[in-house]
Amino acid sequence: MQANINKTNQKRVIIIGGGFGGLKLARELSSSNFQVVLIDKNNYHQFQPLFYQVATAGLEPSAISFPFRKVFQKASNVHVRVAEVSRIDAAANCIQTSIGEIEYDYLILAIGADTNFFGNQNMMKYAMPMKSVSEALSIRNTILENYEKALVASDEQEKQALMNIVIVGGGPTGVEVAGTLAEMKKTVLPKDYPELDFSLMQVHLLEGSGRVLASMSEIASEKAKQYLIDLGVDVSLNARVIDYDGNTVTLTDSPAIHTRTLVWAAGVIGNKIEGLSPEVISRGNRILVDKTNKINGYSNIFAIGDIALMKDETYPNGHPQVAQVAIQQGELLAKNLKALSAGKVMKEFKYKDLGSMATVGRNKAVVDLPKIKFQGFFAWMVWMFIHLMSIVGIKNRLLIFINWAWNYITYDQSLRLIIKPKTKQ
Ligand SMILES: Cc1cc2nc3c(=O)[nH]c(=O)nc-3n(C[C@H](O)[C@H](O)[C@H](O)COP(=O)(O)OP(=O)(O)OC[C@H]3O[C@@H](n4cnc5c(N)ncnc54)[C@H](O)[C@@H]3O)c2cc1C
Repeated sequence: MQANINKTNQKRVIIIGGGFGGLKLARELSSSNFQVVLIDKNNYHQFQPLFYQVATAGLEPSAISFPFRKVFQKASNVHVRVAEVSRIDAAANCIQTSIGEIEYDYLILAIGADTNFFGNQNMMKYAMPMKSVSEALSIRNTILENYEKALVASDEQEKQALMNIVIVGGGPTGVEVAGTLAEMKKTVLPKDYPELDFSLMQVHLLEGSGRVLASMSEIASEKAKQYLIDLGVDVSLNARVIDYDGNTVTLTDSPAIHTRTLVWAAGVIGNKIEGLSPEVISRGNRILVDKTNKINGYSNIFAIGDIALMKDETYPNGHPQVAQVAIQQGELLAKNLKALSAGKVMKEFKYKDLGSMATVGRNKAVVDLPKIKFQGFFAWMVWMFIHLMSIVGIKNRLLIFINWAWNYITYDQSLRLIIKPKTKQ
C-alpha cells in the first residue's frame, strides 16, 4: 500500500523524526525546491531539556510541546505525516511506515534515541524513564499518586517507600530532577500533605561514576554536588545499582533503598529502523556517517543528531548527544542537500560547541562556556534565558515565563494534578 502523498516534479526529501535535528532541517527546507515529507510518530515536537519540569509538576506538557502542523502552516512544500517508520528499502528508495510505503529521493534519519536499561529486565518493568513528554507526565502522576497512597498507608516502611524517590544517573537530567524534588520537599509538598511527616522522605541520586555532571567541567560537577547536598539530596557516587523489584533498590556496596518511585536517567540507545546494512550500526545503535552526515555506503541516505555517529579529530568517539549537535547538523544538511541537487560540493560538518549548562534549583545553576565557567544566580538566569529562547512558539515562551515567575514568587505551582486517560472496561 502506498501512502497518500502527491507526487510532484520536485525531488522528495523524507525526514524521519521531528526532534531538534529533523525540525531544523525541515524548517530550513520549507522554502526550497524540494518536496519535504516530515514523518514522526507524534504530531508534535518535544522540548526534552524541560521534561523534568513536567515530571515535577512545574510545567504543563503543552508548554514544551509544539504541533508540527502549526510550524508548517504556510509551507506548501512540507507534508507532515504522523506515522511510525519500520523499515528502509534502500534498493527501492522506499520506506515502510504504519500508513504505507513512501518513496524518496533523499532520506534523512533524525530518529534520536530512547532510554537504555542495559538489558536489565526488572528496570524495564519497574523503573520510570523520561524520554518523552508522556513518560514525564507518567512520573508526575506516579509521584502524586504515591503521596496519596502514603496518606492512607499504615505500615511505616511502606509509607517511607511511597515517599522516597530514587534517581539513577547523575547527568543533567538526574541532577535537575533531584534538585527540584528536594526543593519541593521543603516548600510545596508539606503544604499539600500536612498530615505526612516529611522527615521520612529522602531523595537519593545514584551515579555510577565518580562525579555528577561528568560531561561538564570539574568545577561545575563539584558545585552541582554541593548544591544538591545543601538541598538535602542524598548523593551517592560510584554507586552500582544491581536490581529493582518495584519496592527495593539493590546496590553492590551500599544498603538497599526502599522506594516505589525510581526515575531512570542513566543512559540512551539509538532508536532502530530495520533495513540498513549491519556494518553501519555502531555502539549504542548509532549510525556511522561521513563528515557530511551521509550514511557510510549509501548515496542518498543521511543521519543527523543523536542517532548519527560521526568521528573526527576532536570527537573520535562521536559528538555528544545534545540538542546543539542535532540543530547544527540539520542546518548544514539543508545547505548540503541544496548543493547536492545543484551538482555542487557538500561542506563538511564542524561542531561549534556553544557550551553546556544545568540547573539544580532556585538561584542554583552551573554554566560552562568555551571561555568562561560560572555558577550560582547569574548562571541560573543564563540557563533560564537560553531555555526560554530555545522553546518553539511565542505563546509557549510566554507561558513558561509566567509559570517560572509565578513559581519564583509563590514557591507554589498549582499543576499537581493526576491526569490519566480513563481505562476502558
Ligand atoms: C530528559 C532530557 C533532557 C535533556 N536535556 C538536554 C539539555 O539540557 N541540553 C541539550 O543540549 N540536550 C539535552 N538533551 C538531549 C537532547 O534532547 C537530544 O540530544 C536531542 O533531542 C537530539 O535531537 P534529535 O533530533 O537527534 O532527536 P530527538 O529530538 O530525540 O527526536 C527524534 C524524533 O524522532 C521520532 N521518531 C523516532 N523513531 C521514529 C520512528 N521509527 N518513526 C517515526 N518517528 C520516529 C521521535 O518521535 C522524535 O520526535 C536531553 C534529553 C533528555 C531525554
